[in-house]
Formats: sequence, structure tokens, C-alpha cells
Amino acid sequence: MVPLKTKGVQVVKKLDKLGMRSSDTAQIFFDEVKVPVRHTIGQEGMGFVYQMQQFQEERLWGAISAVVGMERLIAQTIEYTRERKVFGRPLLDNQVIHFKLAELSTEVELVRSLCYRACEEYLDGTDVTMLASMAKLKAGRALRLVTDGCLQYWGGAGYLWESPTARAFRDSRLASIGGGADEVMLQIISKLMGTLPRLERR
Ligand SMILES: Cc1cc2nc3c(=O)[nH]c(=O)nc-3n(C[C@H](O)[C@H](O)[C@H](O)COP(=O)(O)OP(=O)(O)OC[C@H]3O[C@@H](n4cnc5c(N)ncnc54)[C@H](O)[C@@H]3O)c2cc1C
Repeated sequence: MVPLKTKGVQVVKKLDKLGMRSSDTAQIFFDEVKVPVRHTIGQEGMGFVYQMQQFQEERLWGAISAVVGMERLIAQTIEYTRERKVFGRPLLDNQVIHFKLAELSTEVELVRSLCYRACEEYLDGTDVTMLASMAKLKAGRALRLVTDGCLQYWGGAGYLWESPTARAFRDSRLASIGGGADEVMLQIISKLMGTLPRLERR
């Protein structure tokens, strides 16, 4: 870890993102940067290993924190569609809408249950690589369903930049990409299932 003002560290430019805009992302160059020993974390040369080890926690954290966001968005959508009257009756009274919200809530519960099981096993000292990867995959997919589904029922208001649904839609799209993309999760799960083809040495 080095302070940004360290010699050789150059912040080239701040990158503009679709979502997660309260967290800056920038292109940074490191050129012959001297890192004082007191700024190192753990053992030198072990960074990759530490990163791989911490992924289980990061992926579980990502999955369970998605649950709260999805619940909040569904609750906000219920409130909005109950208030919003179209042709004299609340939008929520349309079966297609309350059924869809029930379906989305069910998806959220599935993610929650998977996370709880994975966390319990993790606390017991079990290797939860498979469950954490499944939870991360499922949470990313559920977020896409929930944010897209909810945005639809906010109509034009949901398409406005500052609406909570639009923000959730933009921010949550990262979940299927960051921390290892969905396809990488599928690769890990396949590997642990023993179905991943072995690479032939040339
Ligand atoms: C806002 C933001 C914050 C981030 N924060 C961090 C951070 O704090 N720390 C950190 O280390 N990284 C961070 N990342 C990086 C993130 O982990 C990577 O962007 C992500 O792992 C995907 O890698 P990539 O962008 O290189 O995409 P690529 O590897 O180029 O992949 C592009 C796409 O191809 C597909 N793909 C990739 N591999 C396969 C495969 N084997 N089979 C089939 N399809 C595949 C996936 O759909 C993937 O999205 C962040 C990224 C973003 C956007």
C-alpha cells in the first residue's frame, strides 16, 4: 500500500463509469515505486495467493449485500406502484405486477438461503469455494432480474437518471463482472464438479 503522493505513482485520469459513481476508479501508473517495508501487507511475493484466498469472503460479502439492496428496491417498487394510479386503480393491483414482485422476492430468498448456508460452513472452517462462487453467480443474476423488473414498473419515472431504480440498475450491473465475472464463477464451479476440460500441454 503506498500513498498516492509517493514518487513514481501517477494518476493518469479518472475513469467515467456507468454506475458505482461514488467510488472513484482511475488509471494509475506505477513507475519504479519504492515501497517501504512498513507499507507491505503480509509476506512479499504472496499477493496473488492472498488475493485468491480472500475471494471467498469478498464473493460472499458481495452476494449477501446484494440481498439487502434487492429487498429495498422491491419494497420501494411496491410502495410506488401502490401509490401510482393508472386508469383509476393502483398499478400494483395488476396481477402481472404483484405476481412479478412475488417472483422476484422468491429469487432474493434463494440467494439469502445460499449465503446463510455458505457463511455457516465457512464459520465451521469448511472450504466454501463452490458455495461462495454459486452465491456470487446467483446474486449477480438475481440483481439483473430484480433491477430490470422493478425499473419496468416505475415507467418513465424509473428511466430518469436520479430515480432509485435507475441507480440500482446501473450500480448493480457490476455484480456480474467485478470480483470475477459470471463466466469465471461458472468455470470455478465446473472445475470443482470435475467437468472442466483439461488443457492439453503443447
Ligand atoms: C467498477 C469496477 C471496480 C473494480 N474493482 C476492483 C478491485 O477493487 N480489485 C480488483 O482486483 N479488481 C477490480 N475490478 C476488476 C474486475 O474484477 C474485472 O473487471 C473483472 O474480473 C473482469 O475482468 P476484465 O475486466 O479484465 O474482463 P475480461 O477478462 O476482458 O472479460 C470480459 C468478459 O468476458 C467474459 N469472460 C471472461 N473470462 C471468460 C471465460 N473464461 N469464459 C467465458 N467468458 C469469459 C466475461 O463475461 C467478462 O465480463 C473492478 C472493475 C470495475 C468495473
